[in-house]
Parts: sequence; C-alpha cells; structure tokens
Amino acid sequence: MMASKEPSIFRPPGEANSFLLRVTQGCSHNQCTFCSMYRQVRFRVRSWTEVEKEIIQTALHHPFLRRVFLADGNALVLGTAKLLNIINTLHRHFPKLSRVTCYAAPGDILKKSPQELDALKQAGLRMIYMGIESGDDGVLAAVNKGITSDGIITAGQKVLQAGMKLSTMVILGLGGREKSRVHAANTAQVISLINPTMLNFLTLTLYDGTPLKEEASKGNFQPLTPLETLFELKEILEQVSLVRPCILRSDHLSNPLPLAGILPKDQKNLLQDVASLLPTLQIRSPFL
Ligand code: SF4
Repeated sequence: MMASKEPSIFRPPGEANSFLLRVTQGCSHNQCTFCSMYRQVRFRVRSWTEVEKEIIQTALHHPFLRRVFLADGNALVLGTAKLLNIINTLHRHFPKLSRVTCYAAPGDILKKSPQELDALKQAGLRMIYMGIESGDDGVLAAVNKGITSDGIITAGQKVLQAGMKLSTMVILGLGGREKSRVHAANTAQVISLINPTMLNFLTLTLYDGTPLKEEASKGNFQPLTPLETLFELKEILEQVSLVRPCILRSDHLSNPLPLAGILPKDQKNLLQDVASLLPTLQIRSPFL
C-alpha cells in the first residue's frame, strides 16, 4: 500500500535551522482569500503518539539541537496543557534546547489568558510569528482574515506583555489599488500600537487556486505595480511611530526593494532608500 504524501511544511526564513515539529496539520482557519499554503490540506491536530514518536526519533539523531519550530499554520490553536506537555517533552529529549517558536493566529492568542501565555513563555516558547497582514478593517474583512484590527492589536500586545518576542508580517498591496491608502495608514497605526519585536514585509503574490486571484482575473481586484508597492511601503514607513526597537526586514523575494534596519533608529535612512528610487523615475504618486 502506498503511504499518503505528507503536505509541505511552511516555516519562517529564520527557522531554517530549526527542528520543524508538526503539531497540527494545516490551518484551522484556512479561509484567507490570498493564502494558498494549506488550501488543499484538511486541518487536523496530530495525536500525542505521533508527536512524541517524532520527538524521540529526532532526538536519536540530533540530541543537541537548540531550536524547535512548532508547525503548521497556527500551533497556538492547541490547548495550553497540550502545548506545555509538548514543550516539556522537548526539553527532556533535547537538553540544549534554547528556544521554541510557532506561528499563531491573532484569534488563538486572544483565547489564551495572560496566565496561559506566561506559562508557555516560562516553559520555553520564546517567540510567536503573527500575521498582521493589514491594519485596515475593510481589507481584513475583504480577505476574510477572521479578525479585526483591534483584535490584532490586543493579541500582539498580549504576546509582548507575556515577555515573548513577536515577529509580525504585513502584506504590501493586500488592499489593491482601491484600498492602498487606508491599508498603508491603518497598518502603520496597528504596527505603532503593537510595537512588535520584528516587522517583515511581503508583497502580495496572487497564487493559483486562491479566491483573490479569481477576483483579480474578473477585474474585481487591481493588484499594485512594483512602483505602487514602493509608494505604499513609503507611506507605511512615514507614518509608523515606534518607541522600542523593532527589527525591520523586507528581504522576501516578492518585494521590489530589499530593506533591513532597526526602527525607529534607521527610519530616516530606510525612507531615503525607498524615496531615492521614486524621484529618479519622475513619477507622481499613483494615489494622488
Ligand atoms: S490564518 Fe494564516 S495560514 Fe491560515 S489561511 Fe490565513 S494566512 Fe493562511
């Protein structure tokens, strides 16, 4: 009998050297119109037997690994007792383990009490990757993110208050031409109110099989050009206001301009980097 093929595991770039331990399969929401990651994957929670077996087998070959990423799309959907059991078991099998991380949907973070988040932090959950995607409620509703900007702000603040690091993702162009300005302004506001540890920009890619690509093919969604994307990035960078250091990365292949720096210290320089590309083209803002 042929074994059924395991779906691909997605992970943040910073987890390239981590043990990717799948604790769920897929995403329990799986309805964002732009996302293709788990579209064909039926969500399920992996059994304790499956998870423990994988930990034991990995420990046989890599007993001194230090980093573990709990996959898939929103590991925090698991109950806190189960997550604590997984993290504590990891510590028993990997004596040099120094950090555990995972993706988390804002809605799942909101369901955890401060005490639960604190317990997870104490157990070793050091960083959470959370998709902001947009700070604009109209854009969030249009892409079926299943959360409002207020929910995203509260979730992000809760993670930081628990003493964990928070890495956030924003998608440039997610509002298309029609909502670019409000997407930029409200996303800058949400970033400012959260003040995450890390901020990553991706540029919208329309993937086959997604409802958003379908809308674009019907003419109901106008994606930004690379130039318009740069204007949007500039608008966000101009309006964001942070008090604590935040590592900014915009080095994903989808982005028209790679950027890296620390906000607010490097804000002016980063803006200059973006702005320097624009006037040379002698093109007015497409939003004016
Ligand atoms: S919550 Fe994340 S993984 Fe799930 S569908 Fe939305 S973007 Fe994709």
